[in-house]
Amino acid sequence: MEEKWLVGVDLGGTTIKMAFISMDGEIKHSWEIATDTSEKGRQIPASISRSIDEKLAEFMKTKDRLIGIGIGAPGPVNEDDGSLEVAVNLGWENFPLQEILERETSLPVAVENDANVAALGEMWKGAGNGAKNLLCVTLGTGVGGGIIVNGEIVHGTNGAGGEIGHITSVPIGGAPCNCGKKGCLETIASATGIVRLAKEELLTASEDSLLRDYKGITAKLVFDAAKEGDKLANRVIEQVVFHLGLALANLANGLNPEKIVIGGGVSKAGGALLEPLKTAFTPFAFPRVAQGVEIVPATLGNQAGVIGAAWLAKQKLS
Ligand code: ZN
Repeated sequence: MEEKWLVGVDLGGTTIKMAFISMDGEIKHSWEIATDTSEKGRQIPASISRSIDEKLAEFMKTKDRLIGIGIGAPGPVNEDDGSLEVAVNLGWENFPLQEILERETSLPVAVENDANVAALGEMWKGAGNGAKNLLCVTLGTGVGGGIIVNGEIVHGTNGAGGEIGHITSVPIGGAPCNCGKKGCLETIASATGIVRLAKEELLTASEDSLLRDYKGITAKLVFDAAKEGDKLANRVIEQVVFHLGLALANLANGLNPEKIVIGGGVSKAGGALLEPLKTAFTPFAFPRVAQGVEIVPATLGNQAGVIGAAWLAKQKLS
């Protein structure tokens, strides 16, 4: 008998990443298609279904080869029926994703929030390998998060568990966040937040800085300047790791995780982020919590989503 495959789908606002993945988490084939956001995203499930059919035909396989589809979607997911009340990037409102995708593909479907799915991917095949209690945080344009306790994602009462990016870091006078609150961790520790802080420093401080020479500042340029010894850039990084360390330590004090996995574009700074982050984290962590935890970089990059989605399908559908 031929080996069965899981289908992992990572649904984003511009691209949909897909993969056929073996039961032990090996990517057999991966590909991506553009996200069709026309008609308020209504064509998305049909385009996923069509693409799966095309790939099966390309490899001369039939659908009975597939166990089911796991999919990470960009919004809070209702656990009961795999629907989303809202996914801003896709144009969805009250969208019964699981139901429609099951109808389109004639396969069973499991849906979870995309950041949670990425965390499951890191647990299964990435930096978390072996650990069952993890905090995962993705520092990109925004700050995403996933919390795994005893090997299970913390989904929460109505699908908004693990929203680490919206922990309040600046209780009074914080910058407005996309979620409608102010002072969220995301306004500080995302790429966007780092650039915002750098611009603020450039306006308020009069000292020389390498950053004054650039027209468009990016988070990477801030890290590069900090590495060159630029004082202003270093102050920005200090603020970022202070707030990130504080938020992660407070979460860790409640969860006592084995690993804290840091991913996303900003994490490409590597040791320049992780080393000061560890230093900022420790004084806020309960000593026994600090002893038990390791802060590590994510290892799956943008494959975490499809691998985590396949894990979801394996757990829920096989
Ligand atoms: Zn927020």
